[in-house]
Amino acid sequence: MTQKKLKAGAVDLHMHSVFSDGTLTPEELVGECVKHGVRIASLTDHDTVAGVERFIRQGICSGITAVSGLELSSVLLGKEIHILGYGFDPSDETLLATLERLRAGREKRAEAIAEKLIDFGITIDITALKDRYRGKSLGRPAIADMMIEMGCVADRREAFERYLAEGRPAFVDKIRVDAYEGMDIIRKAGGISVWAHPALNAGTEGEEMLKLLSDHGLDGVEAFSAAHTCREASMYAGLAARYGLYVTSGSDFHKPGEDGKHNPLGSRSYV
Ligand code: AMP
Ligand code: FE
Ligand code: FE
Ligand code: ZN
Repeated sequence: MTQKKLKAGAVDLHMHSVFSDGTLTPEELVGECVKHGVRIASLTDHDTVAGVERFIRQGICSGITAVSGLELSSVLLGKEIHILGYGFDPSDETLLATLERLRAGREKRAEAIAEKLIDFGITIDITALKDRYRGKSLGRPAIADMMIEMGCVADRREAFERYLAEGRPAFVDKIRVDAYEGMDIIRKAGGISVWAHPALNAGTEGEEMLKLLSDHGLDGVEAFSAAHTCREASMYAGLAARYGLYVTSGSDFHKPGEDGKHNPLGSRSYV
């Protein structure tokens, strides 16, 4: 049997839906995959698996190979890192309990951010915000969207730059899971873990962090991230080879069109 070669961009294992901070439903995302020639895909919402089953079901209908996924907000050596999980059982109880803890923490944090915004004359309707994100992952982009609706800022970027980003006056940190604990939970749910866009978070400590994660059972590295330069992609692909890890590819797609930060579906850096 001859094996069909996948075209560049046909694998995209990193994207977000309305269940976290993306703008498309899982079904619409599958539609975008079809449109952009993505054949193998994973929905990796921040700290939630609420959209996974819908994504997989729609994938089956549309001829897309869809695997369960999530992007866990984690911490290693005091730094924020994102751990992607794939192929796990989305109904695993320990996994769901951990995600529930993170979800509740995100609600509390949204309240604290709303409290700070009052000093700037911005009164977020926190009840409406929580209602809108019931069962979903409430992040800063959701607060930014409300600020846009209220006419306080023009877009998400302005909301982050003026108020929500780290170092800005309404910044409040979120709770994260320890990276090792996160990888253990993903493994126990039957999945594998991959370090997302390492160059975004590692600074000069990439190899040291990769070694620690690899010693703890990390399975792969998202070297071909659209957030990486070619140089970074090639560095992390090289490190993955050295430590015997998979290399994955992901766009970190959040919404169609450009918003200055996020990337088109199917896009990733090239070596
Ligand atoms: P949170 O999970 O609440 O900490 O929000 C993090 C999310 O905010 C990221 O996943 C991005 O989607 C988004 N984000 C972070 N920085 C910016 C920015 N400067 N402009 C627009 N979106 C951003
Ligand atoms: Fe995001
Ligand atoms: Fe991320
Ligand atoms: Zn992401």
